[in-house]
Amino acid sequence: MGNKYDVVVVGGGHNGLVAACYLAKAGLSVHILEREDSLGGATVSQRVFPEYDAQLSRYSYLVSLLPQKIIDYLGLSFETFARSVASYTPDKDEGLLVSSDWNLETEQSFEAITGSSAEFGAWKTFYSDVLHFAEVVAPTMLEKLPTRSELKNAVNHEVWESLIERPIGVSIEEQFSNDLVRGVILTDGLIGTFADAHDLAANRCFLYHLVGNQTGEWRVPKGGMGRLVSELVSKATSLGVSFETSSEVISISNELEVTCASGATYGADFVLANCAPQVLAKLTGEPPPASLEGSQVKINMLLQKLPRLKSGIDPKIAFAGTFHIDERYSDLQKAYKQSAAGCIPDVIPAEMYCHTLTDTSILSNELVAAGYQTLTLFAIHTPAALFDKDNEGVKQEITARLFKQLNAYLVDPIEECLARNSDGTLCVETKSPLDLEDSISLPRGNIFHKDLSFPFREDGTPESWGVETANPKIFICGAGAIRGGGVSGIPGHNAAMAILASQK
Ligand SMILES: Cc1cc2nc3c(=O)[nH]c(=O)nc-3n(C[C@H](O)[C@H](O)[C@H](O)COP(=O)(O)OP(=O)(O)OC[C@H]3O[C@@H](n4cnc5c(N)ncnc54)[C@H](O)[C@@H]3O)c2cc1C
Repeated sequence: MGNKYDVVVVGGGHNGLVAACYLAKAGLSVHILEREDSLGGATVSQRVFPEYDAQLSRYSYLVSLLPQKIIDYLGLSFETFARSVASYTPDKDEGLLVSSDWNLETEQSFEAITGSSAEFGAWKTFYSDVLHFAEVVAPTMLEKLPTRSELKNAVNHEVWESLIERPIGVSIEEQFSNDLVRGVILTDGLIGTFADAHDLAANRCFLYHLVGNQTGEWRVPKGGMGRLVSELVSKATSLGVSFETSSEVISISNELEVTCASGATYGADFVLANCAPQVLAKLTGEPPPASLEGSQVKINMLLQKLPRLKSGIDPKIAFAGTFHIDERYSDLQKAYKQSAAGCIPDVIPAEMYCHTLTDTSILSNELVAAGYQTLTLFAIHTPAALFDKDNEGVKQEITARLFKQLNAYLVDPIEECLARNSDGTLCVETKSPLDLEDSISLPRGNIFHKDLSFPFREDGTPESWGVETANPKIFICGAGAIRGGGVSGIPGHNAAMAILASQK
């Protein structure tokens, strides 16, 4: 039985690798089958512009949700750096600067933009409530799911109502009055989730963006996101895990016979699905679960220099954190309505961040010396359906609109700052939701595989790790599990624990 393993993992994303490491460490034989020719899924670093030695985090780029406990247990040499700036939001010729420690400059910036100290006071109260929630929820992420009542009883009543029961849009509207401040807060509810501010889907997304490691701080992975994967691959290899890339799984039988497109078959005592639940459903012949479609455009850029801003702020400060472009609350709501009606929004909300202001190690020494920088832009409310008729044409139109919106805040147009390839084209790569489905199997480009869930189970439902499927020998070990989305390793850990528990 050369092709028989204790566990076969379908997909070699970071979660599949985390699961494989935990299981191999416990003495199980593990084999990973990956469709692409390299491992990592949405957590890869790649030389996107072949003429330049710059390893961009091609898809995911910041880390918050990965528990230190996983890094320590697996002995990974993986570090993240703090950003000194949380965000900058240009507004006409000025802007709102929020430092990571909300210092005096932040307070003054709030006053200048909003005209009083009230919004900054509301900001501090709101986020200290969120912090309280994060401190309760984060430690439960690597345990079996708590029940709704257990979690509710551990959290202040008002905070629970505001974050779980009431749409996040209502809470924001009640507590804040400034359109720009409201928008900066709401964006965390919309990254990767196509929803109106009054839909609880935005609450779920908001919470995932604010509970990581009990702080919700988003940090820069040293060496880029691919560093996490290379560390996991070398750990898994040393533990005896075997891999096959360019091996797309096309079916899984009830008896756990796993078949690849090449015709190769594998037997297993357990199967872990790192692929999305919708993909798993196709493989097992079940009806696929319903889910929202992906709604973001990702633009990767290499620049010769950072653009100067009309507000006069130093670009090294403005781009060091999250740079919000047209993400006022009213912009977000209008864009949602327009794109839900099938149109490209007049104003496309987006945010950007510059990895190289915090960590230059993703560039060659020559590029660092010459002052090159990277920018990555994440536009929201651009659902997959907008691209169905003409993916390339719509991408071009959206990229042009976004550059125009960005240029409204810049002294130097972005086109003048971008590096060029030898054929004169700009170093810009735009990825639509359809491209993500094509290149890394994200169903309709949903970056979290499927809609996020609240991190608890309903009272009276069976105990669960949030990874179970209809077949007791098949578990979801990827982003589509409950508590799955993002770069976290959490569902990988939890699926491994579910297997180990079921063997006892
Ligand atoms: C553009 C973008 C930006 C993002 N930004 C961030 C961010 O900054 N921070 C953050 O925390 N999260 C971010 N995310 C989300 C995060 O990257 C994902 O939720 C996470 O990487 C999922 O990891 P995973 O291991 O569960 O699955 P994936 O990374 O999706 O890996 C699944 C693997 O399964 C393989 N596979 C699928 N079907 C088959 C099959 N039939 N046979 C064999 N193999 C198969 C795929 O090729 C893939 O390699 C982003 C995602 C995207 C797309």
